[in-house]
Amino acid sequence: MGSTIQEGILWQSVLGEIELSISRASFVTWFKNTHLIRNKNGVIIIGVPNVFIKQQLERKFNPMILETLKKNGVENVEVEYKIQALDKEKTNQKEELIILSDQSSDRPKNKVSSLSHQYRQGLNEKYTFENFIVGAGNELAYAACQAIVANPGSKYNPLFLYGGVGIGKTHLIQAVGNEILNNNPDARIVYASTEQFVQEFVDALRFKKNTDFAGFYRGADVLIVDDVQFLAGKEKIQEEFFHTFNALHQANKQIIISSDKPPREIPTLEERLRSRFVWGMSIDMQNPDFETRCAIIQTKAESHGLELTSDVTEYLANYVQTNIRELEGALNQLLAFCEMRELEPTLDVTVSLLGSGKSRPKHISPRQIIEKTAKYFQVPMEDIMGPKRDKDIVVPRQIAMYILRSELHLSFPKIARELGRKDHTTAIHSIDKIEKESVIDNGVKTAIAKIKEKLYV
Ligand code: ADP
Ligand code: MG
Repeated sequence: MGSTIQEGILWQSVLGEIELSISRASFVTWFKNTHLIRNKNGVIIIGVPNVFIKQQLERKFNPMILETLKKNGVENVEVEYKIQALDKEKTNQKEELIILSDQSSDRPKNKVSSLSHQYRQGLNEKYTFENFIVGAGNELAYAACQAIVANPGSKYNPLFLYGGVGIGKTHLIQAVGNEILNNNPDARIVYASTEQFVQEFVDALRFKKNTDFAGFYRGADVLIVDDVQFLAGKEKIQEEFFHTFNALHQANKQIIISSDKPPREIPTLEERLRSRFVWGMSIDMQNPDFETRCAIIQTKAESHGLELTSDVTEYLANYVQTNIRELEGALNQLLAFCEMRELEPTLDVTVSLLGSGKSRPKHISPRQIIEKTAKYFQVPMEDIMGPKRDKDIVVPRQIAMYILRSELHLSFPKIARELGRKDHTTAIHSIDKIEKESVIDNGVKTAIAKIKEKLYV
């Protein structure tokens, strides 16, 4: 059963209120792609794009959602979250059913025409927002990319995404191109790796077709250039890139750039280009945390029609801690191994297959977590573990508890003991508090990310 108009409006109005009460980035990350599937017999089912969002809504936002529903006159209901990507085609049709109920059947299929368009060059359709898992580390980048899709060329221009290998830069910037093209099949999107840009430039010089080359790139509505660290040391190409950049920027065309390091750390990058790169917005994509890694594994396994047990998921998430490409690789290795030998992917099988590998997960002890947290806040470790109740000690203590839980999955009593406390309910409250704050308070969020980063280097 589809949702009626009124129900659609109900969820829109809930979203409208939530949007006002949390940060823009959080809203975009957690709520934007949700929709009402059903409201019946006291149960409201909300469609969400992936497991990670499902978990966050269940764990963090459920009370807020219930309260907002109540404000909208809906009380005593249960809310369930179901993974169901918002199908654009269907939504459009639904909207049309509402607006133009008599014309809905002869809607043109507008996607086909763009396929052969030269300006969709370089885009790979497999990279979408729907199959990108959002979590700590990439949520800001994700939110910025979504904002660009909504308004290309106006807000974050250029967008400069940087971060280590295999953490989803290419995926995300390709998703922007694909999504803009979905919304507007006539958009002229150019995605190029820097190597390709360099190669085409060299060819153009050799065959004296420089104008074609320049014209092609300067004719884009959206120019996406991946891995610009490869521009280092190539003066002529940097100059060409500089002119392309200026032409597009002046015409309010969107530019998206990725790199494995921030502009200031790219060696031999001309100053004028460096300064252009930081004109708009630079975002540091960080390593995915444990929960995000688990969500990625689960989603990828599900896409192979397989549900992994949580011990296997967690083992894999610990086995590869930074590079998502390697994480996928480990999962694929496991799935292939199990298929060949007709085995179930149990923890024993997983350990026997991967356990012997050289990239063993780095073991982190509770003590190290407390130590790094104390160091980050520049307070003595003894104080964190001692009786003091001053705010500048209590907050680090709570954050240490939170990280003990999120990274090592210790039980509440164990967490309390690690911090020299008898009562485990303190741990429960502290973790809950930090979990909520980490969504709305940037200071807390950054602290957690920085401490985790220190743990894994
Ligand atoms: P980078 O360009 O940063 O080196 P990629 O974008 O190529 O990394 O990502 C490596 C692989 O991991 C790709 O297959 C990509 O689809 C996958 N991946 C990365 N981040 C995510 C994510 N958040 N959710 C789902 N898949 C991801
Ligand atoms: Mg890449």
